Amino acid sequence: MFTVTCSRCKYVFYKGEKIPNLYKIYVRFGGRCPVCGREIGWVPQSIDVKAKR
Ligand SMILES: [Zn+2]
Repeated sequence: MFTVTCSRCKYVFYKGEKIPNLYKIYVRFGGRCPVCGREIGWVPQSIDVKAKR
C-alpha cells in the first residue's frame, strides 16, 4: 500500500496498491493541497511516500 500525504496537514492525496504517479496527482489537485493550500513540489521531501505491507 502506497500513500502520498501532505507534509503539513496530512491530507491524503493518494492511497492505493500501485506506485503513485506524482505527475497525475499534481495535475488532479492543481498543484496544491486542497486543505491547507501548500504547493505540491516536485522535490521528493515535500511528499511522503510510504510502502506498507
Ligand atoms: Zn495540506
